[in-house]
Amino acid sequence: MSNQTYNPFENAQNQFDGAAAILDLDEGTRALLRRPMMEAHFTIPVKMDDGTTKVFQAFRIKHNTARGPAKGGIRFHPHETVDTVRALSMWMTWKCAVVDIPLGGGKGGVICDPHNLSLPEQERLCRGYARALYAQLGPNWDVPAPDVMTNGQHMLWILDEYETLSGGRYPGMITGKPVGMGGSLGRTEATGYGVVYCMKEYLRYTGIPIESTTASIQGFGNVAEYAARMYTQLGGKVVAVSCWNQADKTAYTFKKAAGCNIEELVGIKDSFGSIDKAGAQALGYEVLPGDAWLSQDVDILIPAALENQITPAVFGQISAKVKLICEAANGPTTPDCDALIRDAGIALLPDFLCNAGGVTCSYFEQVQCNMNYFWEKDEVLEKLESAMTKAFKAVYDLAQEKNLYLRDAAYVIAVKRVAEAVRLRGWA
Ligand code: NAD
Repeated sequence: MSNQTYNPFENAQNQFDGAAAILDLDEGTRALLRRPMMEAHFTIPVKMDDGTTKVFQAFRIKHNTARGPAKGGIRFHPHETVDTVRALSMWMTWKCAVVDIPLGGGKGGVICDPHNLSLPEQERLCRGYARALYAQLGPNWDVPAPDVMTNGQHMLWILDEYETLSGGRYPGMITGKPVGMGGSLGRTEATGYGVVYCMKEYLRYTGIPIESTTASIQGFGNVAEYAARMYTQLGGKVVAVSCWNQADKTAYTFKKAAGCNIEELVGIKDSFGSIDKAGAQALGYEVLPGDAWLSQDVDILIPAALENQITPAVFGQISAKVKLICEAANGPTTPDCDALIRDAGIALLPDFLCNAGGVTCSYFEQVQCNMNYFWEKDEVLEKLESAMTKAFKAVYDLAQEKNLYLRDAAYVIAVKRVAEAVRLRGWA
């Protein structure tokens, strides 16, 4: 993969500039939407188990709240940067707008490695995060969720601290909670299924029977697993999946030309989405280098692991057979590769549309919490499919009408909705 470094915030701003130019947005609106509206940079002192105090740097950024409360995850990562959080908050604004849910964009992060923190230390860190940000959070103002290296337990600690300070129960102030503690059925499946709901529509519109297609996937975590399950359930054939191997500190691709059995691979993966190498070999899978997922002779590529994976440096490895790239991960394609993909005639379902099933279901979680009434899983998934299908159709129709790359069409729809909300509020 390429060694070139990409600043995610610059990428996000460049993408926004492209949409602003197509929409001919006025200078004031551009200036407002190019940057987050509000940034909190703060420190969290945590009493460690050995009696010492450690101070962690944390962020919470609201990019835009014109369409509703800010929505976005909190990441724990030793290499977290403020520019990553800024970019992710901006992408959340567009993501919520493109699926037309009444939420804005936010993101948070703490520079830390939870692997090196005991559970009580993690709890104190989460409670410290909630205390420091208390006035900036709330179901009507800013609604966090789990993200990289945070989970439902972290969310519950943050919620509990927030509720203790507020003197009430506000389960809609945070999402990604465990089912039974305010979480929504269907959230685990939502992002991966949403990827395939979009893909299915694209194939239907372009007259390609899904049963005739093959796919190769990067990653085998939450998103990839459920995308692979839904895709194979609809008749598609996954021929390769790649994932990280912690023991060997390298990535591998597991291939079965006749088609991977997703359930058997799920049976030999760990909770971090790593497939057991020996187990896969015993089941007859070829073990190839980590980047081999990209060069498979398939119809569909599904990057579902990391950012900056499809770059000009590796573009040449993509097979001429590939017709569609479904961006299940956030930012898997670098901006300088978009033109190459477009010129090669490969369709691309952009990340903030393709993986919006997760935030859509988080929105459903918030709605259910606010009503204190929870839907059956089928009802959640039915509403999810309907929202994703509708969002895809709007993007596809605009792309056809104006001859736009699907990413540009998605940006135009999302930015236009946010710009309109900004205008109606009298902000610009
Ligand atoms: P995860 O942690 O469950 O899984 C990540 C997967 O990537 C694992 O299988 C891991 O082995 C694999 N991986 C890591 N490094 C790799 C490498 N170098 N080569 C190949 N595989 C590698 O994460 P997830 O929740 O499935 O998220 C995946 C992507 O989707 C991320 O970009 C995330 O931001 C995005 N996303 C997730 C959600 C969600 O609801 N989980 C929602 C929207 C977007």
